[in-house]
Amino acid sequence: MTRLRAGDRLVVASHNPGKVREIVDLLAPLGVVPVGASELGLAQPAETGDTFAANATLKARAAADATGLPALADDSGLMIAALGGQPGVHTARWAGPARDYAAAFARIERELAGRADRRARFVATLALALPGGGVDLFEGTVDGVLVSPPRGANGFGYDPVFEPDGEGRTFAEMAPEEKRRFNHRARAFAKLVAHLGRA
Ligand code: IMP
Repeated sequence: MTRLRAGDRLVVASHNPGKVREIVDLLAPLGVVPVGASELGLAQPAETGDTFAANATLKARAAADATGLPALADDSGLMIAALGGQPGVHTARWAGPARDYAAAFARIERELAGRADRRARFVATLALALPGGGVDLFEGTVDGVLVSPPRGANGFGYDPVFEPDGEGRTFAEMAPEEKRRFNHRARAFAKLVAHLGRA
């Protein structure tokens, strides 16, 4: 069982600024002191796993072992129903090495051409690793549809093309605190907080 107390330093094992921003916001109520992986000059481990859990685990484990501090990593992505769950763990790769999301949105439209089913699910798996210790995993999901053209300027990544069920707006059309009400990462985080409450 992981123990984490207010004032403890926690490495946020991500180099994705959009993700780091959301994670730091979500950590605020816990009172831990977030330290960014880039700030610490940590290398980005190769994401060689074929599940979100495997990749989150290897990122958190690498950061905890390199720093001697507890570390939190997120591996997340988009699973498109009509594409059998693709891009899944390859979601970042669909944006290419330059992380060009216009190219990723164009690819979605190419792959979905002629298909009526535009359902998709965002998944986030959080891994919390202790130096030399175990790893705890927490998963959150949100279902929605893919829209075209993209809408909204907030958020990051695929936010402009994802409209959660029951909402007329994409994540990129929501303020950060509104996105937090639905999103996969916030849902995974709620499980993490419940776990820490029991620690
Ligand atoms: P990872 O950094 O390898 O986990 O890649 C995650 C991919 O999913 C990146 O392309 C992100 O932009 C995308 N992604 C994950 N969570 C979100 C989100 O909340 N909004 C938009 N895109 C996301």
